[in-house]
Amino acid sequence: MTDRKTELAANLAKVEERITAACAAAGREREEVTLIVVTKTYPASDVRILSELGVRHVAENRDQDAAPKAAACADLPLKWHFVGQLQTNKVRSVVGYADVVQSVDRSRLVAALSKEAVRAGREVGCLIQVALDAGESERESGGARTSSEGRWRETGGRGGVAPAGIEELADLVADAPGLRLDGLMTVAPLTGEYAGREQAAFERLMDLSTDLRRSHPAATMVSAGMSADLEQAVAAGATHVRVGTAVLGVRPRLG
Ligand SMILES: *Cc1c(COP(=O)(O)O)cnc(C)c1O
Repeated sequence: MTDRKTELAANLAKVEERITAACAAAGREREEVTLIVVTKTYPASDVRILSELGVRHVAENRDQDAAPKAAACADLPLKWHFVGQLQTNKVRSVVGYADVVQSVDRSRLVAALSKEAVRAGREVGCLIQVALDAGESERESGGARTSSEGRWRETGGRGGVAPAGIEELADLVADAPGLRLDGLMTVAPLTGEYAGREQAAFERLMDLSTDLRRSHPAATMVSAGMSADLEQAVAAGATHVRVGTAVLGVRPRLG
């Protein structure tokens, strides 16, 4: 093995141990949790090594980086998740490689994704990204056309729709040709009532998922937890954890 492969194998084994321990502690089966490795800022050669090591789900957050990487890795049996804020002018490119877009947070994005998915003859899975620092009662949603860009700024540029906006956006996705409503995603908030309370935040996301599944029973994905808080996400019931740093190392630049 190359040095890098040895390093990534060791890191993956540690993350695997953490997920296994967290599942055991929560009385869950290991198979209930899928590891998504966030490869942003790392080269296609690392993605290739991860694939050799058995990783099947990778995630990226910037189309400029992700598109060439996905093209370089098109021969690998990988599912690609898009987890970054997505501008509508990048949607055509993203739909070319993404199996799942985890950052759906406004109606304009749903419309653009649907149009491009149909055009490409693809079905794209969608997660509604929930902003848990937005305040529960705020009724911003994909339906609130003009305020949605403002919502990004209010959530520190991390994206997401307030809980009150989930249902409307979910219905839009479910009815959109070329799209499949897969579930919910969140990033532990840095501000607001859940700041520093990752597990409470993820439990709130689980409650929102339970509500969503009443009207959309197939939308079972709950994507939560990163390198620092995957245990809390597994404890809360997450089905997917998104781990970057703990597998690939500290990123050379912000991303
Ligand atoms: C970067 C990123 C991750 C991974 O974060 P780490 O702390 O490196 O594990 C997870 N989710 C999203 C949305 C990200 O942008």
